[in-house]
Amino acid sequence: MTTETMTTAAAAGASPDAPRPESDRVVIFDTTLRDGEQSPGASMNLEEKLRIARVLEQMGVDIIEAGFPIASTGDFEAVHGVAELVRNSVVAALARAKRADIDRAAESLQPAARRRIHTFISTSPLHMKYKLQMEPEAVLEAVTESVTHARRFTDDVEWSAEDGSRTEHDFLCRCVEAAIKAGATTINIPDTVGYSVPAELAALFGMLRARVPGAEEIVFSTHCHNDLGLAVANSLAAVGAGARQVECTINGLGERAGNAALEEIVMAMRTRHDVMPWYTTIDATKITEASRLVSTITGFDVQRNKAVVGANAFAHESGIHQAGMLRHAETYEIMTPDSVGLVKTTLVMGKHSGRAAFRAKLDELGIGALGDNAFEDAFQRFKDLADRKREVYDEDIHGLIDDALMRDTRRVRLISARGNFGTDHPQMAAVELEIDGQRVCEAGVGDGGVDAAFNAIKKVLPFRPRLADYKVRALTRGTDAQAEVTVWLTEGDHTVIGQGTHTDTVTASVRAYVHALNKLFMKRERDTGPEADALSA
Ligand code: MN
Repeated sequence: MTTETMTTAAAAGASPDAPRPESDRVVIFDTTLRDGEQSPGASMNLEEKLRIARVLEQMGVDIIEAGFPIASTGDFEAVHGVAELVRNSVVAALARAKRADIDRAAESLQPAARRRIHTFISTSPLHMKYKLQMEPEAVLEAVTESVTHARRFTDDVEWSAEDGSRTEHDFLCRCVEAAIKAGATTINIPDTVGYSVPAELAALFGMLRARVPGAEEIVFSTHCHNDLGLAVANSLAAVGAGARQVECTINGLGERAGNAALEEIVMAMRTRHDVMPWYTTIDATKITEASRLVSTITGFDVQRNKAVVGANAFAHESGIHQAGMLRHAETYEIMTPDSVGLVKTTLVMGKHSGRAAFRAKLDELGIGALGDNAFEDAFQRFKDLADRKREVYDEDIHGLIDDALMRDTRRVRLISARGNFGTDHPQMAAVELEIDGQRVCEAGVGDGGVDAAFNAIKKVLPFRPRLADYKVRALTRGTDAQAEVTVWLTEGDHTVIGQGTHTDTVTASVRAYVHALNKLFMKRERDTGPEADALSA
């Protein structure tokens, strides 16, 4: 934090809810669906992306980057679908500095109420020489051409200097100037490889604002990766130096160590408005719901001690802390659980709960309206679970909903599974599946029930996935708790993650395996991306 910002903040002295000048407003650009999805194994299908987009819009995200349309048919359809669904947020599509990319992005954004084309090219010496194999002058021309072309489709054009934080200053200034002249309205300087530190990044933004003609007319944006754990600190430093857009993801999802975490950016600005007078218009009470949804859909667990959304973020267990908390919450609590939407629910669910109670519970949990099929499916599974289990917890219900919502997009469905367990081996299992409407049944043997069941499934597949990892945990307490199983499957270049829940651990494992298979089918279908390594802006 610079002295200059400290003074401004002290002068402002505003509460987080007081009206503030538009010049202090920081625009939130969420790229969970694009950069987040590029994490190995985090692929999402169309239905899953729409669910996330809906929550992002509800929480007030200003711009939703929905995908990279030229990369595959699946990406194109995802952007198109989000553009149809979302009315308030701007929908952005990514494009390299190529006409075909930009045309495809524009086409995918056709239904959007508000659209942005986000075009990028590498500007660092390393990237230009080895990745692009282009001379700097040719890159500069491409900047002008790509932005000019994008402006034919929309007035809202963002230009990014990939690897901008490692770009020579003189050349970066020339590129930014060219982009502004060609009509870019947002200029993004990504720290693509997560190499920068706060003071350095702040100086870079300060330099650009001071030197580039026209800089005062556009919005500067920051896009930080977390390779050194500095993505959020770097983003806030950039804001301190005049950036007014932050690109981030829910849970910090993203390639390698991830992107800057949206929830941390938003809560840091709110909680420390005394020293950071900037604000966002995000509804922070949606943060917990968004975090949960993204982690369930991608299978990327949130670490327990993760800031803002980790399971322990608001847990005070040491005796001294608890005593302090009881006297006055602020002794150890800098934000309240309610402020991020973490609320204790009150409706207890069991076998006597009917449809109305179930619907009320879904409301209480912040789960939006479900289609009739998904609701009925979830309700039937709830009744089934309540018959087997004394008390049905909120975690159980989240598990049911996730299963029910994925039902309609499946190519592979589990019909039934049975097997044995015991000290004598091998174990045996029989699994009945429906693949593209065809019923198939196979039996398998293995070292343990899970191995036997997976071997049975593998017999009916046209390809050979490898089980890269396997994890099981209890969703709640008690011997009748549901097991939540996560499996990682690898086939060729693809890694996918599947999750399944059931009171029987082997059945939960089979569900997780089938979930992963559906993602693998999807990956194989849409595996048409040209130059997939160019996706890393
Ligand atoms: Mn990135």
